[in-house]
Amino acid sequence: EAKLDLITKHIKPFPDFPSKGILFRDICPILKDPGALTAVIDLFEEHVRQTHPQVELIVGLDARGFLFGPLLAQRLGVGFVLVRKKGKLPGPTVSVAYKLEYGEAEVEVQEDAVAPGEKVLLIDDLLATGGTLCAACELMKKQNAEVMGCMVIIELKELNGVEKLKPNTLFSLVQY
Ligand code: 5GP
Repeated sequence: EAKLDLITKHIKPFPDFPSKGILFRDICPILKDPGALTAVIDLFEEHVRQTHPQVELIVGLDARGFLFGPLLAQRLGVGFVLVRKKGKLPGPTVSVAYKLEYGEAEVEVQEDAVAPGEKVLLIDDLLATGGTLCAACELMKKQNAEVMGCMVIIELKELNGVEKLKPNTLFSLVQY
């Protein structure tokens, strides 16, 4: 499809970033191209309208989920909520810790950001091991939200993040 082609052309690989042996997929060129950015939001919107029309809230992950989530939420006429790295949000928060390759990280949401039973979809730019999105799903469940699924632009297949995410589902636009 033409939209997918346009998106793929605007994903730039960077070998050995942020460390040796890692092939980093950079989405910055998508943001710089209005057509490619529109294509991303079009395909996400199409997916949500077809499979999760009842969605009430888009939840974006720190930091690149913040770039696409609000645009999608506006299209759908629903709100947007931020899941941030620990220590960035004011007021009472809830958090979930998760393991990184070295050490630990925590994701956090404002306590009153999501209502019990609210139907949410999570969005980020890329799924690698699935650790980040998995922790964010747990966070939503801790708030008694109904997680309808996760969405990313890029899925790195060989890391099998989809397995880690289960029973939560993943929708991705581009797979490597
Ligand atoms: P995971 O928790 O699935 O291992 O890693 C996913 C998180 O790391 C996402 O928040 C994503 O933004 C970031 N990330 C990891 N690798 C890449 C990459 O190659 N490109 C981009 N754009 N983000 C990455």
